[in-house]
Amino acid sequence: MNIHEYQAKALLKGFGAPVAEGVAIFSADEAEAAAKSLPGPLYVVKSQIHAGGRGKGKFKELGPDAKGGVRLAFSIDEAKAHAAEMLGNTLVTKQTGEAGKQVNRLYIEDGADIERELYLSILVDRTVGQVAFVVSTEGGMDIEAVAEETPEKIITVAIDPEAGVTAADLAKLNGALELTGEAAADGEKLFPILYKAFVEKDMALLEVNPLIVMKDGRLRVLDAKVSFDNNALFRHDDIVALRDLTEEDAKEIEASKYDLAYVALDGNIGCMVNGAGLAMATMDIIKLYGQEPANFLDVGGGATKEKVTAAFKIITADPAVKGILVNIFGGIMKCDVIAEGVVAAVKEVGLKVPLVVRLEGTNVALGKKIINESGLDVIAADDLDDAAQKIVNAVKGS
Ligand code: ADP
Ligand code: MG
Repeated sequence: MNIHEYQAKALLKGFGAPVAEGVAIFSADEAEAAAKSLPGPLYVVKSQIHAGGRGKGKFKELGPDAKGGVRLAFSIDEAKAHAAEMLGNTLVTKQTGEAGKQVNRLYIEDGADIERELYLSILVDRTVGQVAFVVSTEGGMDIEAVAEETPEKIITVAIDPEAGVTAADLAKLNGALELTGEAAADGEKLFPILYKAFVEKDMALLEVNPLIVMKDGRLRVLDAKVSFDNNALFRHDDIVALRDLTEEDAKEIEASKYDLAYVALDGNIGCMVNGAGLAMATMDIIKLYGQEPANFLDVGGGATKEKVTAAFKIITADPAVKGILVNIFGGIMKCDVIAEGVVAAVKEVGLKVPLVVRLEGTNVALGKKIINESGLDVIAADDLDDAAQKIVNAVKGS
């Protein structure tokens, strides 16, 4: 789960990190009061969407010469004008994809006098099985280019979970970021704070880009992107309360209500499968035969008829889906339950695209019987290979 920049900053501030003063607003009328409450004379009006690259992003509705999704304002009036122009429009950045994201919230923040822009992130480094800091002196809006062209400028410092952030780690981080004097002293305080926040809140990623050294020599967290490990959300009600459903895929939200493991993808073959391994194999074989899956969907081991119906409805509601492949291996899951769910869902929502069903395992004969006697226009398949070819051909033919 992701949160907005302003929420991430409030969270980090609670742990003691240095962040600027700022106010989140939802309508342009609130801009004036928000700016007035800040020290000035520089204000920054920042689009709050769950995607990075906002500074260099472009608003769809505003034409190529309009300013981006993070704007400096040198007066309260200018901040108001930016807010009025940005709210409600669609920001397209490198991370949003072409569709962009509608800006429904802004963060009006005190402007900083920037001396240097640094990069800092904390993540779980799977190669060493530890939480690690990833830092670079080349922070700011072009970190992707740094990673590609001069990867040696990106330095990783893994943290021993027993010892936590040690004096040696702090020295490495300060050295890598070329921090001296007050900035180095700030670093020694900040790095353990960020590590503590990461671990305590079960974050999956904490990215501060940029972390800045200000003209007065102090450090400040200027941007903050945080995502959390969904498997640990049950123990963080405070984090779950920050969830912004308007930023999430509607189909994924619906799926989460039924406890379905569903991820929307860009292809056109909808897949309903049980077990993550079989789901991945199904996606792979669809690609092998030249098409792309529209989703990853694992209905799980003990799915009920209601759950299967919900899953089928989510797939058919996606206009990108041009064909559906149901691929079930009945172990704990019974094939007749799947068949009943599919039949019930088709009766309810209709079937406008080809449907291939491959059932194997527990109660397979009963499952096939239910499908065959349902009168539905289903293409039966015998095995995974056969099923993939049949659905790919059906989609190509239509
Ligand atoms: P994004 O990464 O989505 O483009 P950032 O929050 O990193 O958004 O902002 C982009 C750039 O805007 C920063 O690299 C920085 O140069 C500038 N900026 C952002 N916030 C402030 C601020 N409070 N004061 C001064 N400049 C800022
Ligand atoms: Mg940034």
